[in-house]
Amino acid sequence: MPETLFEKIWRAHAVRTLATGQTQLFIGLHLIHEVTTPQAFDALRRERLPVAFPRRTFATIDHIVPTARRERPFLDVMAEDMTAALERNCREFGIPLWTPGDDKQGIVHVIGPELGLTQPGMTIACGDSHTSTHGALGAIAFGIGTSQVRDVLATQSLALDPLKVRRVDVNGRLGPGVYAKDVILTVIRRLGVEGGVGFAYEYGGTTVDAMSIEERMTICNMSIEGGARVGYVNPDDATFAFLRGRPFAPAGDEFDRAVAWWRQIASDRDAPYTDRVEFDAGAIEPTVTWGINPGQSVAIGEPIDAPSDDEGLAFMGFTRGARVQGTKIDVAFIGSCTNGRLSDLEAAAAIVRGQRVAPHVRALVVPGSESVSRAAEARGLDRTFVDAGFEWRGAGCSMCLGMNPDKLEGRQICASSSNRNFKGRQGSPTGRTLLMSPAMVAAAAVAGEVVDVRTMLDNRRSATAGHQSPRDSH
Ligand code: SF4
Repeated sequence: MPETLFEKIWRAHAVRTLATGQTQLFIGLHLIHEVTTPQAFDALRRERLPVAFPRRTFATIDHIVPTARRERPFLDVMAEDMTAALERNCREFGIPLWTPGDDKQGIVHVIGPELGLTQPGMTIACGDSHTSTHGALGAIAFGIGTSQVRDVLATQSLALDPLKVRRVDVNGRLGPGVYAKDVILTVIRRLGVEGGVGFAYEYGGTTVDAMSIEERMTICNMSIEGGARVGYVNPDDATFAFLRGRPFAPAGDEFDRAVAWWRQIASDRDAPYTDRVEFDAGAIEPTVTWGINPGQSVAIGEPIDAPSDDEGLAFMGFTRGARVQGTKIDVAFIGSCTNGRLSDLEAAAAIVRGQRVAPHVRALVVPGSESVSRAAEARGLDRTFVDAGFEWRGAGCSMCLGMNPDKLEGRQICASSSNRNFKGRQGSPTGRTLLMSPAMVAAAAVAGEVVDVRTMLDNRRSATAGHQSPRDSH
């Protein structure tokens, strides 16, 4: 029987059917961080249980970490306490932990793939909603709550109901200035923020096939914002090339054997899906949110088409028929597990190079990991951003959710490359978030308002052409 990747991985990891009808699913990799683990470790201690598979468990500090002054003890007492608690727990239970200053520290969904911990065919769990990110490498990855973190620590398994699988095809070429973030915002807009409930989203089609693994991560990351518990892309040559040589990836002959297994785990050509949807990449435009969930978005330049009494319109201060383009911003944030990787910073740096951040805008770049930070610095991207007036920060979640000192103030409006525009998400209960691609955030930072990044790319092209023409004439 032909099967999807989801079904193959599920079958390979099913321990047994529970009395509840759920499946006990073995979890290959458990990633943990400081926010959703303290009570889980306390429960283990109370029950006198060890961590079942400490060698399948890896910890990092990301959510609360300060991104400006990172020396210990942290000035924020709660951040210091939470970090110290995770250090104690990891020491006691024998789990590797990366803290600021370690070259492997970073946002949990950034370091998993970059270290080669995330591999095709795996089941992965983490106490964070955006664990679906790891599906970009052909894994099925579940965001879980604290009680499930306890379950995975104690048993390396989860009680889960199987998911239906929806095939999401994106075909064709993305236009200039259109990125993976625009694709996923468009998918969520069309299918709805609850359209994926009960589903795993399998992304494919020529556009996704042509994407880098980092772009696929952006897409899979936001599956949860469309209601899908899991998002994934079948592993292919790009996946294997990405993993080769990574610290925790198989090496030598083992790598070749792993590739043979990884190829088999991909969905069969005639695998059955519960349903299929298709998107035309050529029709996708730079997209921005106007409301208070990631499905409330429009193509830049398009008027907002929502009922006049929509709660999101009122909160954000927009009216039906208005345009987000031209909205003055106060803060620009480039970072998060959605768009805090090297290629994201490169795309943003290409926009700000030689430009200045508008005087009224506070602009931050927060790399997703120490490794991203080092790679960006080696390419001089930090200088590009600092010269333009951005703050260049240490790795962490930062203003994605404002659990550290990086917060919006009052009703500030933030152009953000993160994944959630919920009320209060960025640290101020009344703060307003406009989600967009990193390049669009960079363009907004420079213009001081939301603009169509394509106009900046066009200006750059004509400036370059003008500059080059005298030399070209020789
Ligand atoms: S960057 Fe945001 S979404 Fe990602 S792990 Fe951190 S808080 Fe969660």
